[in-house]
Amino acid sequence: MISTSLLPLETPTPAHICPFDQACSYLEAAARELKLDQGILEILSNPRKVITVSIPVKLDSGEIRVFAGHRVQHSDILGPYKGGIRYHPAVTLREVSALAMLMTWKCALLGIPYGGAKGGIAIAPKNYSVGELERITRRFISELIKDIGPSVDIPAPDMGTSAREMAWMMDTYSVNVGHAVPGVVTGKPLSVGGSLGREMATGRGAMIVVREALKDLGKSLQGTRVAIQGFGNVGGAAAQLFYEAGAKVIGVSNSTIGIYSETGLDIPAVKAYMTANHQSLLGYPQATAISNAELLTLPCDVLVPAALENQITEENVNQVQAKIVAEAANGPVTLEADRSLQARGVIVLPDILANAGGVVVSYLEWVQGLSYLFWDEERVNREMENLMVHAYHEVVEQSRKREIPLRLAAYTLGVGRVAKALSDRGLYP
Ligand code: GLU
Repeated sequence: MISTSLLPLETPTPAHICPFDQACSYLEAAARELKLDQGILEILSNPRKVITVSIPVKLDSGEIRVFAGHRVQHSDILGPYKGGIRYHPAVTLREVSALAMLMTWKCALLGIPYGGAKGGIAIAPKNYSVGELERITRRFISELIKDIGPSVDIPAPDMGTSAREMAWMMDTYSVNVGHAVPGVVTGKPLSVGGSLGREMATGRGAMIVVREALKDLGKSLQGTRVAIQGFGNVGGAAAQLFYEAGAKVIGVSNSTIGIYSETGLDIPAVKAYMTANHQSLLGYPQATAISNAELLTLPCDVLVPAALENQITEENVNQVQAKIVAEAANGPVTLEADRSLQARGVIVLPDILANAGGVVVSYLEWVQGLSYLFWDEERVNREMENLMVHAYHEVVEQSRKREIPLRLAAYTLGVGRVAKALSDRGLYP
């Protein structure tokens, strides 16, 4: 069974690390397992809409630059398109397309009524002033004005974007349509209809599924050695929550450097150090400096890659010592590395489950906004936890029933639900 992608090829990438090909391979495996019709597979292999816009912006120097902005809307079979917008130099149309597809399966797996989308601009935010970033963001959203909306497509934060960008997006959309529309984006600041618990949500979701997996092994988070790659929105929150739950966070890293302590890091102290040290881990006194590559191979029980794609590859997979890998990032384990971890009996909690906490609380934010009724943080966390725990057990059950790895189990659930809805809705005309 082969998927036929109509997506235009851009910069050639070696097939084994092309994120879109990788996403299609997982889809094909799920389709085989589910014995999906070839035509359905073909529909699901292709994004419904691929949008690339030019974003002309005047920089602070007075110079005009044009950026390319992408929004890929993979599927809206189950509801409005949903997914983040990332600002990162490695953004390509194929990467955004892969991530849009992942969002479709993620939302379906979690049982939230959304389709999947993703957007991005290939920039390093740190190279631009706040004013420049605001102009880039506002022009991007105004170019997308007809393609987004609270019941059409709802962007959210992703790598390199945060509540600040979401407020600019909400404002730009609202000014263009003539009234305030908080539901057009999620991950907003609390002042404009954001939800309590959203900032920590992806990290919290990852901690919850690891906790459940440990429970199934007859263990607990208490004293469990955890290494986390990435110390931003996701990794930073996960580190804090693992630490609070009594786990021993032995290593963390950001894009430049990592730190390691066999006895466990004092995460609040690490955070305070970073705040005082221009967001750098360099020189943190109570730990040994390590590289990002070394972090992945630390002697630990749980490894949480919470940064970029393709971090655990054929080259380093044999040195990975963790017994559980929780994919807090999207696609951090390559296809080959995944097979090798599987063969060694390492439990891989797949990205569409392990990092779903973010979109789950986005959904809760959207629901609160639409009903004009806001909840306290305890309620948000409880509702999110229920959805995450439920999805985790569904995946484990599917894996047992079909005798397949957790990733394939998660994909069969997500893909299966979208395929079922697609065949129930039928094709127009
Ligand atoms: N960017 C996050 C993700 O990849 C959140 C998406 C959302 O909240 O819509 O899941």
